[in-house]
Amino acid sequence: MTTRLEALDPIVGATVVDQLRRMADRLKPLRLVHINSTRMGGGVAELLIGIIPLWNELGIDARWEVIQGDQAFFEVTKAMHNALQGFKVNIGNAMLDHYLEINRMNAAKLDFDADFVVVNDPQPAYLIQFMREKAKKWIWRCHIDASKPDRKVWRFLREAVKQYDASIFSMPGFAQNLPHPQYLLYPSIDPLSEKNRELSAEEVSAVMDRLGIARDKPIILQVSRFDSFKDPLGVIEAFRMVHAHTPCRLVLAGGEATDDPEGPRIFAEVQEAAQGDPDIDLLLLPPESHYEVNALQRAADIIVQKSVREGFGLTVTEAMWKGKPVIGGAAGGIMLQIRNFRTGFLVHSPEGCALRIRYLLRHPEVGKRMGKFAKEFVRNHFLVTRNLRDYLSMMLLFRSPESGDLRRPGRAVVL
Ligand code: UDP
Repeated sequence: MTTRLEALDPIVGATVVDQLRRMADRLKPLRLVHINSTRMGGGVAELLIGIIPLWNELGIDARWEVIQGDQAFFEVTKAMHNALQGFKVNIGNAMLDHYLEINRMNAAKLDFDADFVVVNDPQPAYLIQFMREKAKKWIWRCHIDASKPDRKVWRFLREAVKQYDASIFSMPGFAQNLPHPQYLLYPSIDPLSEKNRELSAEEVSAVMDRLGIARDKPIILQVSRFDSFKDPLGVIEAFRMVHAHTPCRLVLAGGEATDDPEGPRIFAEVQEAAQGDPDIDLLLLPPESHYEVNALQRAADIIVQKSVREGFGLTVTEAMWKGKPVIGGAAGGIMLQIRNFRTGFLVHSPEGCALRIRYLLRHPEVGKRMGKFAKEFVRNHFLVTRNLRDYLSMMLLFRSPESGDLRRPGRAVVL
């Protein structure tokens, strides 16, 4: 049977996979643990689903642990998430105490003995305080657009983060003042996953029929959790401006992440805004709908990700990998991915978004050309093999006695 690494060979090139094997060999034996707060829904879960089996194929003993929390815990962590992305929020001391207590309870339950632990995002950030001795090196990976965090919330979180041996951010602009090295690593997608693997035209049609989406007009799609930072209302506004003159259909597909309690409220707002328009399809998908999202992205003519804040935006990468032109909000990691006018368009407002949708509807050949560039851009920069290589480089740096200079506190290192 072909292994996943062997199957990646023809996509990324045999030398890439060979290099990963050689790097991993230099680290073995190695016990690695990734920790986050949800097994399904959102970009971090997506990333971990793809990466864990590959670590194990490389001979690294990798585990994925998920912390548990109650509704009140996820209310606090979502508020923290919003605050780190620059929103004004009110988080009282009782809420912070509850957050700490849940971290303490999870630390008591988690049982591992690791060389490296990668802790993702704020939800489990304080675990280190209660279980430092369980791993030799602790790395905090921030997937959020932390360029202008709320100072009070960041001060609280920084008390935990500064205990780590290093942190990872997705863009240079997100790096913080911290007493340890900060690495810049882009997230990635797995081209072999249910979400991204090739599908036949028949498979795509069958899913569209099953979801009840007509293909009578060009389809504009946004796939996102229902979250105000993803600006679904702005997408509807842009769509209406275009739809008034040009036949097209809008599909807003989103699911719920167990660590995001705001979803139902935003979904209700979106439902209200879309009401009465037969050309807007709202899809509330179960979290395991990877195959359906894949088919939707392949069926779409134009993909929009009109976020106003975005750590990275894996949905953009996924769409680009499928050869689609993407219109993205000029925010965070979307700006790393979309080369304006080459692999898609960056926009700042619903009006700008409408202008670009209209242009691509009128010039489908330009969209096709952009999609081709976009796919190659993803192949070169945003596939899981590159993420693995970056992690391996970082861990080798920690192991190497000559790399003291690169690991100096406060240094930002681009791998
Ligand atoms: N996603 C999904 N179903 C949904 C909504 C999103 O599978 O209904 C996936 C999406 O395809 C992507 C991830 O969740 O892989 C979202 O990652 P992104 O970085 O775009 O946003 P986040 O939710 O992490 O802010």
